[in-house]
Amino acid sequence: MFQAILIEKDEQGYRAVLKDVRADQLPEGDVTVKVEYSTLNYKDGLAITGKAPVVRSFPMVPGIDFAGTVQASAHPGFKVGEKVILNGWGVGEVHWGGLAQRARVKGDWLIALPEAFTARQAMSIGTAGYTAMLCVIALERHGLKPADGDVLVTGANGGVGSFAIALLSQLGYRIVASTGRVEETDYLKRLGAAEVIDRATLSSAGKPLQKERWAAAVDTVGSHTLANVCAGIRYGGAVAACGMAQGLDLPGSVAPFILRNVSLLGVDSVMRTTQDRVTAWQRLASDLRGPLLDEIVREVPLQDAIDVAQSLMRGEVRGRVVVNVAG
Ligand code: NDP
Repeated sequence: MFQAILIEKDEQGYRAVLKDVRADQLPEGDVTVKVEYSTLNYKDGLAITGKAPVVRSFPMVPGIDFAGTVQASAHPGFKVGEKVILNGWGVGEVHWGGLAQRARVKGDWLIALPEAFTARQAMSIGTAGYTAMLCVIALERHGLKPADGDVLVTGANGGVGSFAIALLSQLGYRIVASTGRVEETDYLKRLGAAEVIDRATLSSAGKPLQKERWAAAVDTVGSHTLANVCAGIRYGGAVAACGMAQGLDLPGSVAPFILRNVSLLGVDSVMRTTQDRVTAWQRLASDLRGPLLDEIVREVPLQDAIDVAQSLMRGEVRGRVVVNVAG
């Protein structure tokens, strides 16, 4: 038996509960992992609260990330005792995920835990940090350089936003952080933001072309915010768009794309190739300064994860939450 958060849906409704689960209930897969740490991402919050239809089969163990040790393997790439991590691939949505003391998955979804990190550190970074790194890489491939000008990060106090600020500022960029929690300005400056703006200035319908303020942006928010961000990017700049915390819609104009040569770079983390994942994690290992992780991260035990997921959905969580699954 092992402990897991289970999401159940039946005539009594939709609920997440901490339960004892038998090992023979684990789904099919060629690698079984003793999970040490998982995390709470925005998508885990949606899954646990049922706020959006992230989970499509029941019962489901949420948790789109985990780090742990291989306990059994029929996969040629992984041996018993090896440390591994997993981000995405529909785990925690359509395949049992990381908010459990055991996980059984396809070995093809795993990568080795980068040597630079412990399991706890890797999960402190989690999908949020890995996605922030993918956004940085997308902007670099576009040709962005620190001398080009300010980079805007929206949803700044969130997991992806916090890591985007930390990574970009360590790479020498001047960061403008957009947040609904300006009272967290000291935290955002400790991460490396040079300037903090109120997200209310971006969250309502705006003009199709606005003052050219930023060379580039990482947007975790979508909706009117993304439209206004595109409208304020300098000629030839780019926006790496990865999130929808304000909404999935994009009520904007093509004007920035066709008149200012602005590029909108879509960033998905879930279905990326193993090579993209390894590249992003290698960059995290080389670019992220260790002490910043402690600044961004708070640890909670598995039994608190359901309550904390609800706070996350209420926008009350700053930075990242790492879940100590092993207890
Ligand atoms: P968090 O919940 O940690 O952060 C989201 C942040 O967005 C909040 O902290 C808040 O920042 C801001 N926010 C919340 N609600 C609103 C709103 N109504 N209007 C404007 N801003 C808002 O989530 P994550 O950082 O984990 O994820 C951020 C987004 O990125 C999510 O939409 C998530 O689904 C997406 N994502 C996408 C991935 C991909 O593969 N494409 C991977 C990972 C995440 P503040 O308080 O500073 O304003």
